[in-house]
Amino acid sequence: MTSFMGKILRVDLVTQTADSISVPPEIYEAVLAGKGLEAWYLYSHIPAGADPLGPENILAFAAGALCGTGAFLTGRWTVACKSPLTGGWGDANCGGLFAPAIKQCGYDAIFISGIAEKPVYLFCDGKNVEIRDASAYWGLDATETEKALHADLDGICRKKPCIACIGPAGEKCSFISGICNEGGRIAARSGVGAVMGSKRLKAVVLAGAKAIPCDDPAKVKALSKELGEKLLKMTLPTGLGVLIGAGGTMMGHLPSIPLDGSLTSYMFREWGTQANTSLAITSGDGPIKNWSGTPHDVRLMDLVYNPEHINRIETVKYHCYSCPLGCGGKLNIRGRKYAEFDETHKPEYETIEAFGPLLMNWSLDSIYQLNELLNRAGMDTISAGNTVAWAIECYENGLLTRDQTDGLELTWGNTEAVLQLVKNMIARKGFGGAIADGVKRASEKFGGKEYAMHIGGQEPGMHDARNDPQLGIHFVAEPAPGKHTVGMSIEYSAMSLCDICSWAPPAKPHAKSRDVEDLEDIALISKANACYTMLTDGAGGCYYGQMMGVHMWKLIEYLNAAEGWNYDGDHYIEIGERIQALRQLFNIKQGFDPAAVKLPDRMQGIPPLPSGPLKGITLRNRDQVSAHWRAFGWDDKTGVPLPDTVKQLGIDRLTEVIL
Ligand code: SF4
Repeated sequence: MTSFMGKILRVDLVTQTADSISVPPEIYEAVLAGKGLEAWYLYSHIPAGADPLGPENILAFAAGALCGTGAFLTGRWTVACKSPLTGGWGDANCGGLFAPAIKQCGYDAIFISGIAEKPVYLFCDGKNVEIRDASAYWGLDATETEKALHADLDGICRKKPCIACIGPAGEKCSFISGICNEGGRIAARSGVGAVMGSKRLKAVVLAGAKAIPCDDPAKVKALSKELGEKLLKMTLPTGLGVLIGAGGTMMGHLPSIPLDGSLTSYMFREWGTQANTSLAITSGDGPIKNWSGTPHDVRLMDLVYNPEHINRIETVKYHCYSCPLGCGGKLNIRGRKYAEFDETHKPEYETIEAFGPLLMNWSLDSIYQLNELLNRAGMDTISAGNTVAWAIECYENGLLTRDQTDGLELTWGNTEAVLQLVKNMIARKGFGGAIADGVKRASEKFGGKEYAMHIGGQEPGMHDARNDPQLGIHFVAEPAPGKHTVGMSIEYSAMSLCDICSWAPPAKPHAKSRDVEDLEDIALISKANACYTMLTDGAGGCYYGQMMGVHMWKLIEYLNAAEGWNYDGDHYIEIGERIQALRQLFNIKQGFDPAAVKLPDRMQGIPPLPSGPLKGITLRNRDQVSAHWRAFGWDDKTGVPLPDTVKQLGIDRLTEVIL
C-alpha cells in the first residue's frame, strides 16, 4: 500500500464536465504527488504558447504524498499553472486544512481547464463533482467569500468544507494575485490568483471524507512521536526577542555559521517567521529602501519590528494540518491606528519587510492593516511591496509626479500614501490599478526600470542575494524565478543534507566572499538544496520542517514508511532532481528563456554598497548560475536540460504517459 489516492480529478469549465482518472503507479514512484504530479501533468497538457489567462492554461491543486499519513509538517498544498507574471512555470503553496481535503475527496490533485461563462465554484464531496453558480460570491473578499459559502452550505454537506478562493485582486486578474484559504492565508506567488480569476472560478470547495491510506501508520506515528518529543525539549527564556536585532548585527560581521535546526524550530514556534525581521534588518539579509539601503538607513527600526511587540497582541496560535510547531497566529488589532478590521493573521516576515524597511515605513500598525487588506484581497504582499517601493523611488527621483499618482505623495516612509496606493491597486483604480500587475509591467508603462526589482518578471522574496550568493543562484536559476523558498546557505547549514545525499558537501562556516569564488562547490550545495526542496514539495512538506534538519524531520524515513518503499536518500534526492527538470522543461516548451533571467544590477552589487554588512560585495551570479545548471546536467549557457540528463532521469518515458 502507498499513501497516494491513485486518482486525479480533471475539470473542464467550458463543457462543465469532470472526470476522475487513475494515475499509473510508476508516475508516483517517479515524482511523488504535490508539485511533482503537477509538473508531470502540466508539462504534457498545457500547449506551447498557451495564454496564461486563456482557456488552455490549467490550474492545478495538489496535496503532497505524505499528507494525511500522520507525518508531521506535511499539510501544505501546491497550486501550479503557467504564470502570467513570468510566462513560464508558476506555483505557490499554502497550509491550513485544504491539502488533506483534496485527498479526502479521493484525489491527489485537481486539474482545471477552460473558462466558465459566468462566475462558478467547484464543489466536490468525494461522491459528486459539481460546477455551481458563484455569482452571489463574486465581488466579495476572500474572507467574506469563505464565510458566505460556509453559511450557505451549513447543514448540507456531511462535513464542514475546506475552501480555496480568490478575492478582488484575483477577480480583476492582477498578475500579483494569489489564492486564499482559511480566512486569508494565501498561496501568493506566480500570479496563480489571476489564472483562477481568468477562469471565472471563484472557489474550490471540498467536503470529502475518504480515508487516506498509509503503508505503515505505526512507523509514521513513531517518527512523529520522536519529533514531537524533541520539539518539547526545545525551550529558551521568554523575552529573548529583544536580543534578535543584536544577533543580526553580529551576524552581519561574521562568516556564515551552520545553524542547528532545533534553534530555527524554536524561533518559528515562539514567534513565527517574524522572528527573522530584526535579524534580517541588521544582518544585511533584509532589503531596505527598495534594496538600496543599509542598516545605517533604518538605525533602530529593528526595535519597532521586534517580534515581542507582535506576540503581545496575539490572541491565538494556529497550526497547519499535522503540524506540532504552529507558526501562525491571530492578532487583535481592534482600535489600533489605521485598523479597519478587528483582527488579522500574524504578519509573515516577508510582509513586514516588504511594507516596513523596504519602504522606510516605521509603523507596525500600518503593517497589520496592510496585511489584512492584502490577504482579504488575495494579493501577494511580496510583489505588492516591491511594486510600491519602485513607485516611491520613481516619485522621489522625479519620474512620477503627483498628477500621475492621483495626488499621492509617494515619499519614503509616507504610511498614509502607501495605504491608499495599496487600496487603489486592489480596486484597480487609477495609478494603483495601472501598477497592479507588478513591478515589471509598471516600469514598462511608466519608466524607472532601474528601480524595478524583479527577476524574470517576478518580484524577489525579502532576502538579499548580496548577503547570500546561493540565494542569488536560486532567484535566477529556479524555474519560477524570484522565489526565496528554494534554498539559502543558512537553510543548507541547518539541514545536514550531506547525511542523506552522497554527493552533497558538508556545510561549514565560511566567509561570504568564499561563496562568491568557489563555483563548483556552491553549485553542488545549490543543487542539493533545490532537489531537496522539490522532494519536500512532492511530499507536501513544510520548509520549516526542512529547516529542522534531516535528523529531526526524517523525510526519507517518513516516505519509506508511508509508501512501503525502502529507498535511500540518493534515490529520493533524484526524485527532486526529476521534478526540477520537468519544471524547467515546461519553461523551455513554453518559450521561456532561462538565460534571459538575471538579478537586478542593484542586487548583484553593481555598483557595490559603500557601507554596511554588504559593503563592497559584487556577485558573480551568472557564473554561479552556469555552474548550477552544469551540476544539474543542463546546458550551462541556455539552462536547457541536456538529452542525456532527460534520459537518465527517465523523463522521456514519463512524458510518453498521457492521460
Ligand atoms: S511550521 Fe507553520 S507553515 Fe509550517 S506546517 Fe507548521 S504551521 Fe504550517
